[in-house]
Amino acid sequence: MTSADAVLAGLDRTRGWREDFYRDLHAHPELSGQESRTSAAAAARLTAWGFDVQRVGGGVVGVLANGPGNTVLSRADMDALPVTEMTELPYASTQTATDETGATTGVSHACGHDVHVTCLLGAAELLADQRQHWSGTFVALFQPAEETAAGARGMLDDGLARRIPRPDVAFAQHVLGLDAGTIGTQVGPVMSAGDSIRITVFGKGSHGSMPHLSVDPVVLAASIVLRLQTIVARETRPGEFAVVTVGSSVAGTKSNIIPDRAVLLLNVRTYDDATRRQVLEAIERIVRAECDGAGSPQPPTFEYYDQYPLTHNDSGVGDRVDSAFREHFGDQVVELGRVTASEDFSRIPDAFETPYFYWGVGGFAAGTSAPPNHSPFFAPLIQPTLDTGTEALVVAALAYLAKDPG
Ligand code: ZN
Ligand code: ZN
Repeated sequence: MTSADAVLAGLDRTRGWREDFYRDLHAHPELSGQESRTSAAAAARLTAWGFDVQRVGGGVVGVLANGPGNTVLSRADMDALPVTEMTELPYASTQTATDETGATTGVSHACGHDVHVTCLLGAAELLADQRQHWSGTFVALFQPAEETAAGARGMLDDGLARRIPRPDVAFAQHVLGLDAGTIGTQVGPVMSAGDSIRITVFGKGSHGSMPHLSVDPVVLAASIVLRLQTIVARETRPGEFAVVTVGSSVAGTKSNIIPDRAVLLLNVRTYDDATRRQVLEAIERIVRAECDGAGSPQPPTFEYYDQYPLTHNDSGVGDRVDSAFREHFGDQVVELGRVTASEDFSRIPDAFETPYFYWGVGGFAAGTSAPPNHSPFFAPLIQPTLDTGTEALVVAALAYLAKDPG
């Protein structure tokens, strides 16, 4: 029997509370930066199981020191989304919340972070309960505000890196539209880097009937939008992944007024730092040149926001965890492929220069078309999803903490 089997012998015993906890969390989602109820629940349980618990930057981190050996950090994100749930689940969220603009919005766990919190608590209890089967230090980290790209940075700004032991390896997982019971793995780039840019270009306002007295920012913005399409088509290497999307283009108020500015909102996704720099430089170059070409009276402004780092799975850690997964889950381990979504998890291991591995957990009945993350219909199956996610965290941790790896 492996250490993982020994620790996971408690899985059946903990299933009842894990399912109850999940249903309660699903019914009580909290927006990014407002995760007080969720953090309190995580902190209370970690404390009861003997973890040394700290509140850091709106999150919770519990350290369980259990003798010599490696330090393993596992992270779960806690926040929900401003999405009104439209599932028919008996535990569906009917909550509303106030967002940062002061508006009232429906709120739900449409990205499944309630699964992540429940599974990490499940793994934490099993490891705390079976400490004779492993040696080292286990760090359970509950992060706020993943959806706004602010949470990992907030915990680091509050001194995370000097408040916990440096991890030798770090893990995180995400429930995705894979078949429930499966684990999706991928070495190398797994989630894209994401950048949002607010670009303001300036013209000269005039009466709509007197265009010769204007510098028309509507025409300027249109020209920029078209020219930006050539970055991926003509500048990045064929086969190199990059997305440049203009998600919003706003100028003017009335048909007979030429406005004095236009605002474009761009979203950029890349899997490679060099490609990312190339794309961002090309965007700025094209926008400045189009402004010059139009005779714009003042230079454009670029405001970067909602920036997500690249998630790049370490190959050494990936191979070790992937073999442990295959030993435990058999052919339920599937190829994840690259995901074009983004994550701020990697900021935490990057701050410690720690290698990491991020994997997907299936949450949907085989053969059905799962609603995508962030859909109001997103509803993972409770089981086997919660068991699979809990087992995966234990198996990955014990790949580094087992007393008797074999
Ligand atoms: Zn999400
Ligand atoms: Zn998510």
